[in-house]
Amino acid sequence: MIGPKPKWYVGGLHFECTGCGNCCAGPDEGYIWICRREIERLADYLHIPVNEVRKKYLRRYGIRSSIREERRTKDCIFLIPTAEGRGCAIYPVRPNQCRTWPFWSINLKHPDNWNEAAMKCPGINQGRHYNFKEIEAILKQKQWWDDEK
Ligand code: SF4
Ligand code: SF4
Repeated sequence: MIGPKPKWYVGGLHFECTGCGNCCAGPDEGYIWICRREIERLADYLHIPVNEVRKKYLRRYGIRSSIREERRTKDCIFLIPTAEGRGCAIYPVRPNQCRTWPFWSINLKHPDNWNEAAMKCPGINQGRHYNFKEIEAILKQKQWWDDEK
């Protein structure tokens, strides 16, 4: 057969979030990238001006911004305790990076990368089945909001 080799996840993958909060928590330091449009949406959601959001909740790295982490735990500052465990305080406006986990190109490179991610994320390889088309769409997603798509 001539043509590109099918991707290893052509048959789809299973994922269903358990709400454990691991992907939002330390102990490793990370980046939770947030773009200008998402910052505006976050400001609206919190009912505070954009510059206050930047000052209180974000950190600048060159031209990019990342959500701050707790100094000691390295947890995202929006990770809060809930009745079920831990959850996101800004869930409806969480950035694209958070929305597309675990279907990131780094995790989808090879089954080993996927299974390595599963060691931290108990939702991987269980629950809902995502077909190939759905995975590719999430992988390419840059914007989650309706306008300007
Ligand atoms: S680590 Fe996985 S299962 Fe836990 S909250 Fe994050 S996505 Fe959900
Ligand atoms: S913004 Fe919400 S979903 Fe994203 S890392 Fe922080 S707590 Fe987790």
